[in-house]
Amino acid sequence: MRKKIVAGNWKMNNDLAETEMFLVELKKQVFPENVTIMIAPPFTSLNHAFNSLREHPVTIASQNMHQSNEGAFTGEISAKMLKSIGANIVILGHSERRAYFMEDNATLAEKVNTALENEMTIIFCIGEELEDRKNDTHFEIIKTQLSEGLFHTSNKAWESIIIAYEPVWAIGTGETASPEQTQEMHHFIRKTIAENYSEEIADGVSILYGGSVKPDNATEIFKQPDVDGGLIGGASLKVASFMEIVNAF
Ligand code: PGA
Repeated sequence: MRKKIVAGNWKMNNDLAETEMFLVELKKQVFPENVTIMIAPPFTSLNHAFNSLREHPVTIASQNMHQSNEGAFTGEISAKMLKSIGANIVILGHSERRAYFMEDNATLAEKVNTALENEMTIIFCIGEELEDRKNDTHFEIIKTQLSEGLFHTSNKAWESIIIAYEPVWAIGTGETASPEQTQEMHHFIRKTIAENYSEEIADGVSILYGGSVKPDNATEIFKQPDVDGGLIGGASLKVASFMEIVNAF
């Protein structure tokens, strides 16, 4: 059985005091047993969130990390640093990192290797732009992102890989892929993994959808057979809407 996962990607939101307010509220909640819940606060709140959530079934994730293990990379954070504060999960390849910080598939492949070497779990984001969908090249783009970013990894690595399909045109826009479009792409992703690895590996991988998931559309999206959860941006910033999505399965 694949894991159902709802992960909140806070992006560059919430300072330490705001994080604390969120955590106080979050810890009052009743958490469903069938869903793995993750939050990805900014670096400055990670350690506090980890310590605060020790007794709660919520895992913390980092939004990024550097591909080198250490060295002269001013302003960057390594896998070892993340692990030392309890973050064993890292989001890699978010479309905002690809677009604003020039992270290409080759850099992401290096980050993937570093994360795996450090025994971290990866939430690997892929997604096409609106132009790609209009030009009907979306499947090709997704295949390239998968093959250049991930398909060099071993069979074993897939125990530590989660995919997040996030069409760029649906992120923060209020526009979601329809449940049919989502299912079609998730099925394609699983099939592509099966072709490059095995049916068994493909069946075991959780594939999350991201892009304007809200309490009122989460149930329809999560109902799709190849959708195993969501990576939630805007709606993860308030405990009430985040929990409604967590409970939407
Ligand atoms: P959104 O962001 O839910 O605000 O569209 C999703 C994401 O970027 O992970």
